[in-house]
Amino acid sequence: MAEVIKIDDNTWRFEDGFVRFFLVEGDEKAAMIDSGVNCPNALEMAKELTDKPVILINTHGDGDHTSGTNGFSHIYIHPSDYEKCEVNTRYPGTDLKEINDGDVIDLGNRPLKIIHIPGHTSGSVAILDVKKRALFAGDSVQKGHIFMFGNKREPENYEASLEKLASFESEYDLIYASHDECILPKDYVEKVKEAWKLVNSGDVPFEIVELYGNKVRSYTTEYCGFYLEDM
Ligand SMILES: [Zn+2]
Repeated sequence: MAEVIKIDDNTWRFEDGFVRFFLVEGDEKAAMIDSGVNCPNALEMAKELTDKPVILINTHGDGDHTSGTNGFSHIYIHPSDYEKCEVNTRYPGTDLKEINDGDVIDLGNRPLKIIHIPGHTSGSVAILDVKKRALFAGDSVQKGHIFMFGNKREPENYEASLEKLASFESEYDLIYASHDECILPKDYVEKVKEAWKLVNSGDVPFEIVELYGNKVRSYTTEYCGFYLEDM
């Protein structure tokens, strides 16, 4: 059961162990942004906070962001994560509503802009809460370790995605992350980009760790960490 914390009159965060997700409410409907790792009742919890219809929008399709999916008839997610992260097979009763770069989902006086940022997963998106000037970045910008190994990742596109996020910098004042510290300053995009470039330059030492049956490289930098394929 996640702990609910109010951010403002129509925004909440749900702390679900090592991950968090969000509920944002507009004049006509509300959107859950992700649904946690151990929260199959996410929709019921949302309904205690809002009387508006609730839709589910995912920043990406990893298992620690999708536990409440079953409660919804549709999931708004980038189509490549619906496939590659196997959301389609894990939650067969929940149909795909495609979100793509540049889409705007308006909750009623609360537009959410979709920015496609492949890297952490190929279908990762950031969600710009336009009027609140806040960016929900999923796992792509955070202080913790960012997973970059396995088939569903696109590390080769990650730097360009961070550059793309930085190009929207005049449109947000803060970043909500899904792991580790919740609120990050907007220049954290640049910091994660610097860390990523440093890791790829080969100048950062790593250690081999075992994660979900994979031996991967664990890099730790001043700003965040990365788990990479051990070549
Ligand atoms: Zn995650």
